[in-house]
Amino acid sequence: MTRMTSLPDGTLVPVLGQGTWEIGDDPKTADAEQAALSRGLDLGLSLIDTAELYGNGKSERLVGEVIRGRRDEAFLVSKVRPENAGEMSMMLACERSLERLGVDRLDLYLLHWESRFPMDEIIAGFEELIDEGMIARWGVSNLDLKTMDRMEALDGGVGCQTDQVLYHLGSRGIEFDLLPWAQERNMPLMAYSPLGRGGKGGLLEHPALIEIADRHDASTAQIALAAVLRQEGIIAIPKASTVAHVEANAEALEIELDAEDLAVLDRAFPPPSTAQPLDII
Ligand code: NDP
Repeated sequence: MTRMTSLPDGTLVPVLGQGTWEIGDDPKTADAEQAALSRGLDLGLSLIDTAELYGNGKSERLVGEVIRGRRDEAFLVSKVRPENAGEMSMMLACERSLERLGVDRLDLYLLHWESRFPMDEIIAGFEELIDEGMIARWGVSNLDLKTMDRMEALDGGVGCQTDQVLYHLGSRGIEFDLLPWAQERNMPLMAYSPLGRGGKGGLLEHPALIEIADRHDASTAQIALAAVLRQEGIIAIPKASTVAHVEANAEALEIELDAEDLAVLDRAFPPPSTAQPLDII
């Protein structure tokens, strides 16, 4: 069973979703990627994160294939490129995303990172998209605490539903200030790259993770996910391109890390003791 959390507007979303960066790039792996995302939907990982940027629309197209006939099972998140977030351009960008996804409305539309367009203009653009029925709600990505604070004070700023930010064991800076700030507002943060992007020689091969994984008869990826998901107000969106990886990620929801595990993790990946600049990929 998947665990749920609530967005500021009261909408329930699963704490574990699915990322899609680099999915859809290679036609040779598209079938496996579609099967993985479909399996994730079966398992309740219904929040699917994509972006117009990913593969220049290829990720959105593949997600569109996956949700065809199952639109109601998915909570669809896409992102607008900052250069497309102006008054004239955002509606066109959103239309193109909807077309590629084959849907008439996004559940959540995010500003991918800070834009040269002023934030009040961007908020007005999001509100217009809501009025037009093209998106249900909006949020941001890669904005630091100072920028979030400034945005909150703007007209309509409290409509923001999330900030999607880099968060994994090797990058814990948000635990010092941005995460508590969001928790106070009951605004979940969406943790991107929660597996540290996986791969050889990366986070998932760290000896501390191997030690805890052995103790739980789990994989290091599952422990890395469990560590992120133990925080209140975090939605993790790992990318998996195989059914086996999606199933393993779903099982991570069952893992409970104990005090000893957490002590090992804190020694290996010390939590921040001062404010850190926001890490961005
Ligand atoms: P992740 O941290 O999710 O790592 C993905 C890697 O982990 C892939 O190589 C994947 O392999 C592997 N993996 C997945 N599940 C397992 C498992 N159970 N066991 C072992 N390996 C596993 O990296 P991403 O950077 O993709 O981040 C996730 C998502 O966050 C993105 O896809 C995107 O949607 C979003 N994102 C947003 C950003 C932003 O600026 N807003 C920036 C970066 C990401 P395989 O593919 O073979 O399954």
